[in-house]
Amino acid sequence: MTKLLPVVEKFHSLQGEGFHCGKSAFFIRLAGCKVGCPWCDTKHSWDSKKYPLLSIEALLYEIKEARLKGASFIVLTGGEPLQHNLDELCEIIKNRTESTKLNPIKIHIETSGVNDFSGFFDWITLSPKRHNPPQDFFLEKCNEVKIIINDTNDIEFARNIKNKIFDIKKQNNNEKKFFVQPAWNSNNGYKLAIEFAKRNPDWTLSLQTHKYLSIQ
Ligand code: SF4
Repeated sequence: MTKLLPVVEKFHSLQGEGFHCGKSAFFIRLAGCKVGCPWCDTKHSWDSKKYPLLSIEALLYEIKEARLKGASFIVLTGGEPLQHNLDELCEIIKNRTESTKLNPIKIHIETSGVNDFSGFFDWITLSPKRHNPPQDFFLEKCNEVKIIINDTNDIEFARNIKNKIFDIKKQNNNEKKFFVQPAWNSNNGYKLAIEFAKRNPDWTLSLQTHKYLSIQ
């Protein structure tokens, strides 16, 4: 029997945000988050006890089905997916999606970076939070940084995070992608993020395109 994980929802859709926006992916939203962002748009996911525990085998079946229908990677999201140890999930997904014809399916994760790291990923999206900053490990290892913008303090936070990554790596950050994303329905956030991206071409505006399209 493999590990059981609390799952809010799982679905095949398009990645709506960030660097891989518009690409076909299978999403697994794990329940549980203690980060407590006041503007969180997935507050329903915070309490993991509300959701069914699913086996990795059951998830694997759906991953394989979605892959046959075009999903080119998995996105582990939440909640905060790293509240759970993801070693076994990643290992089984990688081992069991490889064949003579297919490479293992790629696994992406979206995390705030406050919990200990587990699992192995082809892409790490770090969405750090001002009131609960990430561990340095994530600043170093992430592939993209996505800062949610509500007010001017978030713009300052975005600058500080980028500087901190530079300090840790002691080299330029060309291989990392930096996004500012307005909080949903925050007019101030939209104005600030647009102006910031206009003035700072090393940052890109990210929008939650799935919400505009009313898709999952
Ligand atoms: S880390 Fe994500 S899921 Fe958790 S409270 Fe913040 S926005 Fe919501």
